[in-house]
Amino acid sequence: MTERSEGIDQHSGARGVIVVGGGQAGFSVASTLRGAGYTGPVTVLAGERHLPYQRPPLSKKFLTDPDGTRVELVPESFYRERDIDLRLGHKVVAVDTAVRAVTTRTGLRFAYDHLVLATGARNRPLPVPGAELDGVHSLRSFDDALRIGAALAAARDVVVVGGGFIGLELAQAAAARGARVTVVELADRLLGRALSPHLEAHLRERHESGGVHVLTGTAVSAIEGAGRVREVVTDRGRLPADLVVYGIGAVPRDELARDAGLAVDDGVVVDELLRSVTDPRVSAVGDCARHPHPGAVGLVRLECVQNATDQGMTVGRRLAGAPVRYTSLPWFWSDQGDIKLQIAGLRTGTDEVHVLSGESPERLAAYAFRDDRLVAVETLNWPAEHLAARRLLERGGPVSPADLAGSTLGVLARARRAAAVRS
Ligand SMILES: Cc1cc2nc3c(=O)[nH]c(=O)nc-3n(C[C@H](O)[C@H](O)[C@H](O)COP(=O)(O)OP(=O)(O)OC[C@H]3O[C@@H](n4cnc5c(N)ncnc54)[C@H](O)[C@@H]3O)c2cc1C
Repeated sequence: MTERSEGIDQHSGARGVIVVGGGQAGFSVASTLRGAGYTGPVTVLAGERHLPYQRPPLSKKFLTDPDGTRVELVPESFYRERDIDLRLGHKVVAVDTAVRAVTTRTGLRFAYDHLVLATGARNRPLPVPGAELDGVHSLRSFDDALRIGAALAAARDVVVVGGGFIGLELAQAAAARGARVTVVELADRLLGRALSPHLEAHLRERHESGGVHVLTGTAVSAIEGAGRVREVVTDRGRLPADLVVYGIGAVPRDELARDAGLAVDDGVVVDELLRSVTDPRVSAVGDCARHPHPGAVGLVRLECVQNATDQGMTVGRRLAGAPVRYTSLPWFWSDQGDIKLQIAGLRTGTDEVHVLSGESPERLAAYAFRDDRLVAVETLNWPAEHLAARRLLERGGPVSPADLAGSTLGVLARARRAAAVRS
């Protein structure tokens, strides 16, 4: 990788596209630009020092099998061969939209024709005394996963604060490594509003029968220990702990945009083409972007690989000359031990849910409707059903709650055939 001197970047004598953030979305923008024939300079300014990597394995397989789990998205040669100028360890600290340039922490300035913000999200801090003790972690980056993986080797009592996707994945990984695990969740159910109640109850049962202790409706008020964590104090008593990992949500890294005077509202506000609503020379993608979506009520900000990848592709193609509105169907997965949870569509504002079970009792699907229209499908341990649901949702076929009444697979199959005939 080439080094650059201080001052405005001289690379190729042109400005081209600057991508801030070398994560899933930033990678997708850069690789799509080249794949779609963009010939101008492409520079990725990545705050981290690792090659762009995928985060999902960090809370799953990487914690139980770090040596056998590859996380890099592509090898370094990929960037060289495509003339993508990847600058690792280049954190951007300021954006000047008037002169169209960004400044890095080390004082380098890079001018751009178009700027793409792909800065992701950061973990919400745990607001209790003792959160700074040794042995208290949160998980977002590869380095976090290395630290947690090492701590798990010796941990006997693990407390996971937050019963969200990452917390539950971690709980299973810790249990698989032989620890006693307690999940403490403030709300009265796991996964907040992300999952319909029937599936949530089933999921909880699976975790508990697998040996994970789940406390919902429980608030953590402090973490105690002399330098190192010993106990977690909750409103229902004290829990012994030699490792605490918290996952209580994330906030978008949108401060660069805010400081540059771009519209921000829990994420960089963008239009259907994913351009900043304030400055069309700036786009935002992935976890940091708040965007309109045909399946959403109002603007949404999504935190999933599908969204980061597809938004990156949408912006890459637009900048290569093929603008399209961003309309991809959102989908998501979470592997919690041997439990596979998958969600297709957006379930906000749904008013009716129909639950179907597969031939095996371990397989469940919840079909969620808004105003009589199917808008989201959640599945447990049923990948084929998830894929079928995605096709159904992508096609936009009219499947009504009545089509699913009776809750049998035969009825669902007939509904699918009917949808296929009507579409
Ligand atoms: C532990 C974990 C498990 C997950 N599991 C799943 C899963 O199972 N399924 C799923 O769909 N999704 C999962 N996700 C979510 C998914 O990984 C994210 O939605 C996705 O990575 C978002 O991509 P992104 O590029 O927007 O952000 P990120 O991948 O977070 O990348 C943003 C990058 O920008 C860098 N950056 C930030 N600010 C600056 C700056 N000023 N200058 C330079 N660089 C900067 C950051 O350091 C970071 O490397 C998981 C996330 C985590 C943390």
